[in-house]
Parts: sequence; C-alpha cells; structure tokens
Amino acid sequence: MPNKSQKREASCSCGQLSLITSGNPVRISICHCFECQKRSGSVFATQVRFPRYCIEIQGEFATYTRTADSGNQIHFQFCRKCGGTISYYLDEDPDNLAVPIGLFSDPSFPQPVYSVYEERMHHWVQLPEGMEHIN
Ligand SMILES: [Zn+2]
Ligand SMILES: [Zn+2]
Repeated sequence: MPNKSQKREASCSCGQLSLITSGNPVRISICHCFECQKRSGSVFATQVRFPRYCIEIQGEFATYTRTADSGNQIHFQFCRKCGGTISYYLDEDPDNLAVPIGLFSDPSFPQPVYSVYEERMHHWVQLPEGMEHIN
C-alpha cells in the first residue's frame, strides 16, 4: 500500500508546468463525455482527484472555465506554452483538484474505480471488471 508521504509528479508536454501530489488519491475515474473527449483528444479521459492541499503546482498557467451539463462551472488550469491541462476543479467541489492521469507518465498508477458518462462511450471500448458505473 502506498503510504501517506508518497509523492508523485505530473507535468505538461513542454515541462514548464508541473505539480507534485502527496498522499493517496480520493477518486480515480474514467469519463466518456464529449467535453472530456475534446479536452484530451482521446475517446475517453482518465483523471485522479486529490485534496487541493496535497498538490503543489509549479510554473505558470492560464485558466479556461466552462459550464458543465449540471450547470456547475469547471475551471481548467493549462500551460500557456504547450496547451496541456495540468489540473481542474468544479465550483461545487473546490477543495479537490483533478489531474489527468497521463501526465504522471506512470504505467503503474492505480486503476480507475469509476466510469462516468457511459452513454457517450465509444462502441469498441472495453472496461476492466469491477468498475463502478455512474451516469
Ligand atoms: Zn507546457
Ligand atoms: Zn467528462
């Protein structure tokens, strides 16, 4: 089991913007919604949430805000140079930051637990067993 002091590092493509997480994630999920597909460029996005106080961001970022289907505002922090999103948070959950899992460059990163927005899931995608399905 990872211990409380475990540190992980994530960075954008150009490396100008990075962050360090400490401790264990509070939520790991896959989202199939069209907005996550557009943001990531992939047919689904994977993200991990940590308490904001467990994340230390280094570098300069700009913020893009959009309104979710639920009516909540989501704020994306991205690198001005390469455009990569390093983290984001919801107005309804400002105490947690979500980080795209690919930014850790760590194939041993824990597997997602939740799968969200499966009505937008591409027909060929197969999910591992044991995931919780939320729509
Ligand atoms: Zn960058
Ligand atoms: Zn989504």
